[in-house]
Amino acid sequence: MEAPQYSGLTGALDYLSDRVLAPGTLVRVPLGKRELLGIVWHGAAAAPTDYTLRPVAEVFDALPPLAPDWLALVDFAAGYYQRGVGELALSVLPPELRKLDAAGLSQRLARLVKQLDKLAAAPAPVPDAPVRPALGAEQQAALLAFEAALTQPRPMPMLLHGVTGSGKTEVYLRATEQVLAAGRQVLVLVPEINLTPQLEARFAERFPKHRLVAMHSGLTPVQRLQHWLMAHLGRADIVLGTRLSVFAPLPNLGLIVVDEEHDPSYKQQEGARYSARDLAIYRAHLERVPVILGSATPSLETWQRSEPGPQQRYQRLTLAERVGGGALPRVRLFDMGVLPKVAGQSPVLAPMVLASLQDRLARGEQSLVFLNRRGYAPVLFCADCGWKSGCPHCSAWRVFHKGERTLRCHHCGFTERVPRACPDCGNLDIAPMGRGTEKLEEQLAELLPGARIARLDADTARGKGQLESRLAAVHAGDVDVLVGTQMVTKGHDFRRITLVVALNPDSALFASDFRAPERLFALLMQAGGRAGRDAEASARSEMWVQTWHPRHALYTALKTHDFGAFALSQLEERRAAGLPPYSHLALLRAESRDPAVALAWLREASELAAALPGAAGVTLYPPVPPSVSKVAGIERLQMLVEAGSRLQLQRLLADWMPALHGLRGRHKGLARWAIDVDPLAI
Ligand code: ADP
Ligand code: ZN
Ligand code: ZN
Repeated sequence: MEAPQYSGLTGALDYLSDRVLAPGTLVRVPLGKRELLGIVWHGAAAAPTDYTLRPVAEVFDALPPLAPDWLALVDFAAGYYQRGVGELALSVLPPELRKLDAAGLSQRLARLVKQLDKLAAAPAPVPDAPVRPALGAEQQAALLAFEAALTQPRPMPMLLHGVTGSGKTEVYLRATEQVLAAGRQVLVLVPEINLTPQLEARFAERFPKHRLVAMHSGLTPVQRLQHWLMAHLGRADIVLGTRLSVFAPLPNLGLIVVDEEHDPSYKQQEGARYSARDLAIYRAHLERVPVILGSATPSLETWQRSEPGPQQRYQRLTLAERVGGGALPRVRLFDMGVLPKVAGQSPVLAPMVLASLQDRLARGEQSLVFLNRRGYAPVLFCADCGWKSGCPHCSAWRVFHKGERTLRCHHCGFTERVPRACPDCGNLDIAPMGRGTEKLEEQLAELLPGARIARLDADTARGKGQLESRLAAVHAGDVDVLVGTQMVTKGHDFRRITLVVALNPDSALFASDFRAPERLFALLMQAGGRAGRDAEASARSEMWVQTWHPRHALYTALKTHDFGAFALSQLEERRAAGLPPYSHLALLRAESRDPAVALAWLREASELAAALPGAAGVTLYPPVPPSVSKVAGIERLQMLVEAGSRLQLQRLLADWMPALHGLRGRHKGLARWAIDVDPLAI
């Protein structure tokens, strides 16, 4: 009799089994009065010493065990991000699989696997002869570097740095081709579900004889299970998906590609707050396969690690030119300070910017106007008594949505009809302050009579298929001016756009979050990248930035499309301030209806940490409220922990976190707490 361990919410649990079970085997086990899905984590122990152990209820023999590398990845992620191994493992399995705790599903699983057999046996409908363009010199060099990496026992991660349209995807495709030819699997990560169809189509078209599966939250539960099984059984050659797919079981992994590696959506923002980009790098290291990180505006962490020198840890490959010689748009800054105000307000568009839009209309070309704020106006205001449309549950304003006549809180969702008069003084004349995309759309319609204007933001893309239909309209040329939030800047290949306008993006320059400038630069580069992808039109493609700070260094670097210069100046600032990548951070968050409770808990947590041996050289900052301190009636506080090295931080967390679990009972009213390792925003 053996006693394999079951990895549960708090750690591994022991069970009896009458045969040796390999680590990674899926089982059904009793826990309390229920039966749950479990994964055999460690190998079998010797004869059990504890005869109260309960036996494993069922072993799912229809599936091969999860590979040791997969278990090691989950083990690492759980340790690094401070979550229970079992909790993390089960949360990254397809939800349908978790239903295996019910009896009878073993047969169902066996049936599903049989169905996949049929799927996999289907002959490819088209011969494998897609068009492959001859590579440019820089692409060729990148591919050679990749080929060299393939022969290394431990390939260095590769950063493929190139603007939109420089041919990065073509390099991914060529690298994929080689790995597929060697009979191995390729994992391609994309930041957003909206970006999967485009890339999926390109991979599918290039590799018609290979099987590609997608993994993202848009799939039905059964599709998710099927695709997961395809990956796990080694029948999918290419897995393309969002951050969760970094945990796809791939017995034969040969390459990981992380497209738009800088994108914040790679970081999970709840539960196990993992970075899929960072885990991809770890996984590649673990499985000794190459990883390609692609971006026009790499994260400063990645950029710094790829700086040539003795500290260099990633290889940097550059694609400096756009394919076909298309130029990057000419970036022009308009100083909003020079415009006279009318009735205390600056005009929406500077005259020159308006003229540029009119010019595109006259030529039948498309424009994109980018404003990173949705809704009609961020707040309603009563000039008589000073009332503002605050959210009663959050420390935030409720946004005015004109079309639906509502005031909606973007933090807790609390929505009410717009009041006809000021709720405080009865004044009938309450007015919107500021501008969101909805108002901008209305103003553009007035300024550009006859123009076909479409808006793309989280509000207009909410319904099923709405995003797709809007994008299709843009592609079909049925839209002259596309207005939207950052959603419009991502990945979509709009060939006919020759003008991009960014309206007043200055607020990020002065945000408290140290990553705000990095993010703004990436957004603007990406927005600019939408223009001029068509070589013929690129000669007159432009990007206008309306700003109050035209001399800011960020805009100067933007004008010359010089990411290197921007990164250098930012890294200098980060070094001087001791911020990442020159330090390592964790954020301890606490939430409670009573802020005093959260504060007291954080203070005690801090004292606990300070007394630990691992605290030497680690800075524990005092608790502070985040920028939005109250959401849905719950007050939040956070405490920053800063260490000189990753190891130092991890050592402290390893001792500290278990101690924190015991602390809670003494703080009645603490709603919850969480640790965020390598937080994106502080
Ligand atoms: P990125 O991923 O950097 O945006 P892509 O790989 O999508 O760039 O390339 C931009 C466009 O140029 C695509 O339409 C692609 O098919 C094409 N392309 C890429 N490399 C070449 C090449 N070597 N020769 C001709 N066309 C190419
Ligand atoms: Zn009032
Ligand atoms: Zn709210």
